Amino acid sequence: MARLRFGPAGKPVSMKSSDLLKAPSFLREIGLDAMEYEAVRGVKISEEKARKFGEEAKKNDILLSMHAPYFINLASSKESTVEASIKRLEESVKASMWMDSYIVVFHPGYYKDAPSKKEAVDRVVENLKPVIEYRDSIGANNVWLGVETTGKITQVGDLDETIYISKKLEGVKPVIDWAHLYARYEGKYVKSVDDVLEVIEKLEKELGEESIKPLHTHFSKIEYGKGGEKKHHNLSEKDYGPEFEHVCRAYSETGIEAVIISESPVLELDALVMKKICIEICGAKCFAD
Ligand SMILES: [Zn+2]
Repeated sequence: MARLRFGPAGKPVSMKSSDLLKAPSFLREIGLDAMEYEAVRGVKISEEKARKFGEEAKKNDILLSMHAPYFINLASSKESTVEASIKRLEESVKASMWMDSYIVVFHPGYYKDAPSKKEAVDRVVENLKPVIEYRDSIGANNVWLGVETTGKITQVGDLDETIYISKKLEGVKPVIDWAHLYARYEGKYVKSVDDVLEVIEKLEKELGEESIKPLHTHFSKIEYGKGGEKKHHNLSEKDYGPEFEHVCRAYSETGIEAVIISESPVLELDALVMKKICIEICGAKCFAD
């Protein structure tokens, strides 16, 4: 039976308090049950605060995930860049363990320094190995590393690459950002329920059930140009895609467990819109445990 969780990428925009520790109870009150902690500008949270945040999340049944810093390039030819990237991922893993977030989402890097796309992807695999060793050495083996599908054609991270990287390593799985896939292929993908089903089926076939139990996903509407992603948009903006209905119908049809993180500018407000869309599509079936 499908079990879907919804939440914002970061502190709720409609919450009056700026206190992170109040976010879980706020989200529960408005009817959400997931949240991605955004460490996109660096992992700055203290152990004490992270642990308190984790306790609040648990108390309010909010499933936590973490987005690692944007400044990561595991495919760089510069040693200092790779080292700094590894360190940022390690810090994310550690803070994830503190707050009991189940996955660290990250963008793997860029093609530009490598002689070929294949070489860039192989560098990502090699440079993730120390992160995995670190993760296991601190006892955080239950924290997944989530390779996100990226929105720009200069970035490592089309669907097949995220699958390839995940296959080569333990405890790594793709995170599907539907808006990014849509933008990367200039609106030619994620345009139907079948497109979404194809992604889910591919993941299950190539990586097994674990990769979709749950499937970690991001959603918003998105503006794209020639190189892909330009800007995330609200669900109410009719000029942009993709359509969340396609995603929810595929989740409903396959009965998978999925976490849906709203990356629209209005975060939790659009998470609620998505939840409502799913209630209309699959009702209690998508929300029962
Ligand atoms: Zn991301």
